[in-house]
This record gives sequence, structure tokens and C-alpha cells, in this order.
Amino acid sequence: MSQLLEFTDRGIYCPRADCYIDPKRGAERAIITHAHSDHARRGSKYYLAHALTVPVLHHRLGKKISTQAVEYGEEIIINGVRFSLHPAGHVVGSSQVRVEYAGQVWVVTGDYKLEHDPLAGSFDPIKCDVFCTESTFGLPVYRWADSAGVIRDINEWWRKNKQNGITSVLFGYSLGKAQRLLYSIDTSIGPVYVHPAIEQINALFRQHNIPIPEVNTLSETTPYQKLKTALVIIPPNAMKNGWLDHVAELSTAYASGWMATQGISWVRNADTGFVMSDHADWDGLNEAVWLSGSDTVYVTHGFTGQFSRWLCENGYDARPVDM
Ligand SMILES: [Zn+2]
Repeated sequence: MSQLLEFTDRGIYCPRADCYIDPKRGAERAIITHAHSDHARRGSKYYLAHALTVPVLHHRLGKKISTQAVEYGEEIIINGVRFSLHPAGHVVGSSQVRVEYAGQVWVVTGDYKLEHDPLAGSFDPIKCDVFCTESTFGLPVYRWADSAGVIRDINEWWRKNKQNGITSVLFGYSLGKAQRLLYSIDTSIGPVYVHPAIEQINALFRQHNIPIPEVNTLSETTPYQKLKTALVIIPPNAMKNGWLDHVAELSTAYASGWMATQGISWVRNADTGFVMSDHADWDGLNEAVWLSGSDTVYVTHGFTGQFSRWLCENGYDARPVDM
């Protein structure tokens, strides 16, 4: 007998409903946890996602894709299988997928974090028989400090740079980190500029009443004088487009969970790093497994071997899944 969900080289598959969760290649039906590129890919005929993820899917995958938007908790039944999305706290619109058939419940987390996010909301623990968790930071060395303290450090770094006439450049992903930073930093310190890729996502979310502060959009012609005391937030890969080449003095920083181990060497040209992640840390992963009430755990994305071994040592029936 086939399992309710199977792990295939094309992604997590529900044979009974003939649909994939975050398929790696095009599929007939795709349920998407969130719009990061390693979860939302082109080529599927039909996409089901949270109402705040669908606009980003259209923005990233094309206006013409066929989508269905659902709210958290809304049930979609496909061939008797009940699917519903629940808050994952990772980025705005990110979802866990609950799958139920014949009294058995599976949960696929997608990416998630347990710390409350003012924009993405709070991870909603769901009781299940089988829990499929990510493990991006599934090693004990990854333990996040309270983000309020990290934001204070970022404000302090910016304030100091401003006093010295140095432009502050902060790297953050255009979906998720950028909005979290914008919402949290003290925008009274000075002008804030964001890369157009970030502003496009901001504008989509503002249309859906997500309270993202209005800031300036960086362009190739933004004069240096305007950037001198500014905080500039750009995606990590945007530095190479040369838009900041005319800035005489700048200090660069990275906001990422990887800063906990790989320090500033991970990102060439970054002067400093702030440990801030939209993924669960080691304690968060363990707590999520415990909260699921499940004895059976599949571990995907990240330190799958290490985290599943740890769970087995602690009495779980845990298996790594490297798709
Ligand atoms: Zn993600």
C-alpha cells in the first residue's frame, strides 16, 4: 500500500490526490509552501498557495500561471484527501501543508521559524501522525539570540556609520529578510533605500495591507550625497551590478543565520554580519517536532542526516530525506 505522501526525485508526492508539494519540476498540481525559488518552480499546470503567496508566484513565475489562493485553515479536498495550509512564520504567506486521509494526518512544514515574526505571523503547531520538517539549521551550533537585540545592533551599526559619513549596506533576501528588516529597524536614524527587486515585493504586500514602511527605491542614478547617511538594503547578489560603485565609503553587513558559523567570510566584501534567520534554529526544530506530537519524522532540506540521527537517539522513528 502506498503512503499518504511519498518522497520522490520530483518532490513530495501524494499519490491518491496526484499532486506534489513544492515540486522540483513541473507537475499537474502543485501545492506551494512559499515563493522562495527552491520551493516555487516553473512548469506546473496549477498552483495552490496561500493568498499572500499567490501574488509573489505571479510576480516570479509569470502572470499566466494558473493559481488558486486559499486562506489559512481553508480545506481543499482532492479525491478524498483533505489539504489545508497553516502559518509557518517563515516569510509573509509561508505555509505548512496539512494532509489528511482516512484518519491519518501528515504535516509538511516547508521552511519555518518559531520566533514570532510581526509580518509573517507565528508558526502554528499542528498535531499529526507523521511530521516532515526542514532542517536547514539542524545542528546544535545554530541557536539564535532574540531578534530584538540583533535589530538594536543593526541600528547601532547604522548610527555609527552615519556619524562617520559612511553608507550602510545591508544584504537581505528580497522576499522575507528585507521586509522583516524594514519593519523592525529604526527608520528615524536616516534615509532608507531598497533595491527595486525588494520594492517590487514590498509593493505587492502593501496592496494586501501588510504594514511595510514606505522607503526610497535605489536606482543606478541615485546620487552619492543622498546615500551618504543612508541604510541601503539589497539582495546578496545585487552588489555586483555596480550601482554602489560611486559610493566613496561604505560598510557592508549580512543578516543571516549562517553568520553563526561561517562569519563574514561567507559573503565576499561584507565587513560584518548579524545572526538573524527566518528558519528555526536547533531549539526551534526540536520544539516543533515535540509540538507535532508525532513519533514519525521525515527530515528534509539541510542537515538531514545529523538531525534525524539525533531524533532517533531520542526515541523518534526519524528518517533523512534527500530528494
Ligand atoms: Zn524559504
